[in-house]
Amino acid sequence: MKPKPSSMPTSHSPQRMITELQTQGLRLASGKSTQLRRKGGAGPSDHQAITIGDTTVMVPVYSDSAWESPFSVDESNDRNSLNQDGIPLADITFVNNPKFYELHTADGIPYSHIATLHSRDVLATTVLQTCIRYESRRKACKFCSIGQSLRAGRTIAHKTPQQLAEVAKAAVELDGIQHMVMTTGTPATPDRGAAVLCDSALAIKAAVDLPIQGQCEPPKDPIWYQRMKDAGIDALGMHLEVVTPALRDELMPGKAELTMDVYMQAFADAVAVFGRGQVSTYILAGLGDSAEAITACCEKLIALGVYPFVVPFVPIRGTPLEDHPAPTADFMEPLLETIAAQLASGQLRSTDIKAGCGRCGACSTLSKYEH
Ligand code: SF4
Repeated sequence: MKPKPSSMPTSHSPQRMITELQTQGLRLASGKSTQLRRKGGAGPSDHQAITIGDTTVMVPVYSDSAWESPFSVDESNDRNSLNQDGIPLADITFVNNPKFYELHTADGIPYSHIATLHSRDVLATTVLQTCIRYESRRKACKFCSIGQSLRAGRTIAHKTPQQLAEVAKAAVELDGIQHMVMTTGTPATPDRGAAVLCDSALAIKAAVDLPIQGQCEPPKDPIWYQRMKDAGIDALGMHLEVVTPALRDELMPGKAELTMDVYMQAFADAVAVFGRGQVSTYILAGLGDSAEAITACCEKLIALGVYPFVVPFVPIRGTPLEDHPAPTADFMEPLLETIAAQLASGQLRSTDIKAGCGRCGACSTLSKYEH
């Protein structure tokens, strides 16, 4: 059952309004929907970046539930107005395609197939668009769409260090990109992706001064944390996604082979290298973890020095969880308020993170609740 969208405009705080928008999505006129760019690979591929006031957020626009959302865009005058149940709330702008999308490599690969713009100033890439977890549909993470953009021809399977360096340099010079997120599918090697992140970071840092967050599963040998740091990776993300062990087994059977205990040890090892607040994790709220389970986990993470970036789950079309409902704003708001209070006690702040999702913050309103 999908949650019924609210039928009444609300008069809540701006962060509550954005939380509602991120959980319910934004309905676009069909013409607008095709004008906007589709995304894929790293990050939320059914989202679109929109700016409200001085805040840019990622909002689901291509998910099925967005078609039922009370939020829509009125384009009847020369501005875009965000409406809730037909009542104007605020002016919004859509983040345009960056200039680097117009370029190709010497061998004809569009730069947009190598890395994409996230939010308004983040460059994001999935270095390996293949994953051992994804090879078996039975073991794949049920929310993941890593293979879809590859099949659709919107990206390439392996971005070389030289390609990434070329695109990163152009994105900084042409579009003022401020930091970069490099995630990867997991290869069948014990480094679990750390080695390709190192090779990529070395090449990028030789070409351009750009803070980088690497994202991978915990490498088997903790020596990789130092290697990643030495290669130029400034911050590290290792993503739990789900925190309740039985739910991890159900929703991500392959990835759950690395247990919560393995992750907690990995976080401790990584913080020893990258420092407090420079290691983060992504938690998808709404997949069945209770608010209590998430906040108990966040308490432990923050004590270790890990920033827990908690985002509302948004179903992606074509995945086994495409019909799973997003969480409600009533679930998300108290959860994010609690985590923000925990972050304040642990003296962790999104603004202190050198690069990556926690610093960007566009997929969640967590940073808006920070004290
Ligand atoms: S938080 Fe920012 S960088 Fe991370 S997935 Fe969302 S838009 Fe991309």
